[in-house]
Amino acid sequence: MKPYILAETNWKALKDQKIDLAILPWGATEAHNYHLPFATDNIMAEKIAHDSAALAWAGGARVLVLPAIPFGVNTGQMDIMLNINMNPTTQLAILNDIIDVMNRHKIYKFLILNGHGGNDFKQMIRELGLRYPRMFICGCNWYQSFDNSEFFEKSGGHADEMETSIMQYLVPELVLPLTEAGKGDSKKFRVKALNEKWAWAERRWTQVTSDTGIGNPLKATPEKGERCFNEIVRKISSFITDLSKADINNMYE
Ligand SMILES: [Zn+2]
Repeated sequence: MKPYILAETNWKALKDQKIDLAILPWGATEAHNYHLPFATDNIMAEKIAHDSAALAWAGGARVLVLPAIPFGVNTGQMDIMLNINMNPTTQLAILNDIIDVMNRHKIYKFLILNGHGGNDFKQMIRELGLRYPRMFICGCNWYQSFDNSEFFEKSGGHADEMETSIMQYLVPELVLPLTEAGKGDSKKFRVKALNEKWAWAERRWTQVTSDTGIGNPLKATPEKGERCFNEIVRKISSFITDLSKADINNMYE
């Protein structure tokens, strides 16, 4: 039983335990090229949360990982079989209910550990901060916590070399041989500004990629995945340790 994982702990251990920071991993249920499982984003977000919390807890930080939310925003992919879309308004309602519980039980620091590119919690955090003024709510995209080029030859963003390597390391039994994977070729917008990222529109996924992947996974190895995963855990763990020790009434210097 790990006392920093709510799903594993029990009332006896928890009732007198002081918790400074709650962590909510949030993923998605969606196709990841041909070779990775639909739960890829959930498996990675949850494993990163658990291992980071283990390190932080061992160092004295009192953090608690909540069960992961398995559905993300997939509005641009509704023609891909069983990609389960959860609308942003639904996500806001779910976040509100969970944060209400934290607030009642005086766990005033809350982190959303996001693992899916279609999820964007920033505006929700602003709105919830207004509703729950005692709470310090923040978010983090774990996939932005490191430099991709330090570990991988090819970048992409979806079922690419990075995601494939980490999944090969974490759950090799759920990853098909790379001979089964598509190349993850993707198309760009014809409108230049949309490719330069300072203008934004949602992509129609099946018009952009034919195998649902973006980024070539063929150079993936579990060894690359292990190195990268350990770096992510080191980063996130030091972040949550800092956060759990921070005084939310004195955050600036
Ligand atoms: Zn993914």
